[in-house]
Amino acid sequence: MTIRKIRNANLLMSWVSRAFEIFQEFSNRSGLKFDDFKNKPKVQIKKILKRHLRDEYEDKWSGELDLCTVDSNKKLRTYKDFKIFLRFEPYLKVECPKYRIAISKLRMSAHNLAIETGRHKSQAPDDRLCVTCNVPETEMHHIMECTKLSTLRDPLLAVCRKEIYKFDNLQVERQFCRIMEVNTVDLANALGQFLVEANNMSS
Ligand SMILES: [Zn+2]
Repeated sequence: MTIRKIRNANLLMSWVSRAFEIFQEFSNRSGLKFDDFKNKPKVQIKKILKRHLRDEYEDKWSGELDLCTVDSNKKLRTYKDFKIFLRFEPYLKVECPKYRIAISKLRMSAHNLAIETGRHKSQAPDDRLCVTCNVPETEMHHIMECTKLSTLRDPLLAVCRKEIYKFDNLQVERQFCRIMEVNTVDLANALGQFLVEANNMSS
């Protein structure tokens, strides 16, 4: 055997050994066994592995997201309330880039509302107040309640009534979450417009 062949054989062995180790670790966590793949076509094996890996990732992802509470002072404290599915978000299909950016920023709490700026100053959540309404300026306050945005809010709520089932029968927290899920492009356009205009008002 030439040196090149030996080196290739070693590389192959290390690759195969590592893949085997990964499978064993994965098998311990997922309960999958080699027998589950016996005599199955490659396409099906790929499908099974992909599904288990995705499930495992979703478990880990939602577990970590659940730890983001207001008390924990984590940035994604609101995101966890409406981000239920790991998926391509419908609002990303909105044509206007300004709207897409505004929605992304609000969903990720990358904004200048007091609930976020106060977090940087280590203020208690109850002290992060809206200067107009003198209540905590959360994302929900901004979208659903802030009095300075009442006029801008009307067109958004009109679209919500069309796009969200029994919108008026939901409690305000639920209404907020359904809006932030942004499940349709029409809703995304209305929310994007609200956010951009609200931002223009404050700048
Ligand atoms: Zn306010």
